[in-house]
Amino acid sequence: MVVVDKENCKGCGRCVAACPKKCLALGETLNAMGIKSVEYKGEGCISCGMCFYNCPEPYALKVEK
Ligand code: SF4
Ligand code: SF4
Repeated sequence: MVVVDKENCKGCGRCVAACPKKCLALGETLNAMGIKSVEYKGEGCISCGMCFYNCPEPYALKVEK
């Protein structure tokens, strides 16, 4: 599954667009930088890693199996 560190997310949405299962979305709550960070919808992740490889922030996303 995917694990998001909201404080390192810049809210660019690249992972949302890259996810083949459409299980990521930009949330409504703001992180400490005032950015609407990405959130995992809670189901559907197949651990493909596309979100990780498309994210420009090294510590915002990780994928665990
Ligand atoms: S690992 Fe794949 S399926 Fe899971 S959230 Fe990332 S892009 Fe979507
Ligand atoms: S690609 Fe990375 S920085 Fe951009 S919204 Fe997704 S987790 Fe945040």
